[in-house]
Amino acid sequence: MGNKIDKIFSDLEERMKYFSQLGVEYLSSPVSSSASSTIPKSPSFLSLRKDILYCQRCSLSQERKNAVPGEGNQEAELMFVGEAPGHDEDVQGQPFVGRAGQLLTKIINAMDYQRQDVFITNVIKCRPPQNRTPYKKEIEQCAPYLLKQIQMIDPRVIVALGKVAADFFIDSDLSMSLLRGNFYEFQKVRIMPTFHPSYLIRNEGNREIKKMVWEDMKKVLAVLGKK
Ligand code: SF4
Repeated sequence: MGNKIDKIFSDLEERMKYFSQLGVEYLSSPVSSSASSTIPKSPSFLSLRKDILYCQRCSLSQERKNAVPGEGNQEAELMFVGEAPGHDEDVQGQPFVGRAGQLLTKIINAMDYQRQDVFITNVIKCRPPQNRTPYKKEIEQCAPYLLKQIQMIDPRVIVALGKVAADFFIDSDLSMSLLRGNFYEFQKVRIMPTFHPSYLIRNEGNREIKKMVWEDMKKVLAVLGKK
């Protein structure tokens, strides 16, 4: 037990040093141990975008074609956060433009929004090789960017697409099947975890999964006063 606590404090100290080097002003109480609750200094949205485009903080910068900061309404009430850019996103420098992206666009449209009404981004801004799951260290190094985006956009609801995004916001060992469908809170923003569109594609014939995602989106719309 003592060792575990020592490890937590040593990780926290390391993390604070890192964010301090990045110009983070202070750390607020963490909502979950997997998501750093940092409030960085506020550059303009444009300068943040530029920082991401030229970022070399982690080794993913070596193999990317383009970093993918995200796109959409900078004052959106609704954000969608996925895991990481894939091949098409890496080539085009835009989030969710491949097959999974087309499905996400359909979901957004079915909610009576256009892509430009919401903000779409990922936990990690550069494509991991062969689309592997991002490492914890990479997520920690990239986290200040997403945290800054959330601080600037100040959305009412964030839809966390898939387990990596859900883990960023929610401190839980539950599977996506158990996490989804319930709201959580992260820095006063309501988080709705749901299945990633690529999971829907992999299970194309499974109407039950589609139904669950739509149920989750209906809950989001209810919170936003749309239904
Ligand atoms: S993944 Fe994030 S931290 Fe790593 S190089 Fe890209 S923008 Fe920087």
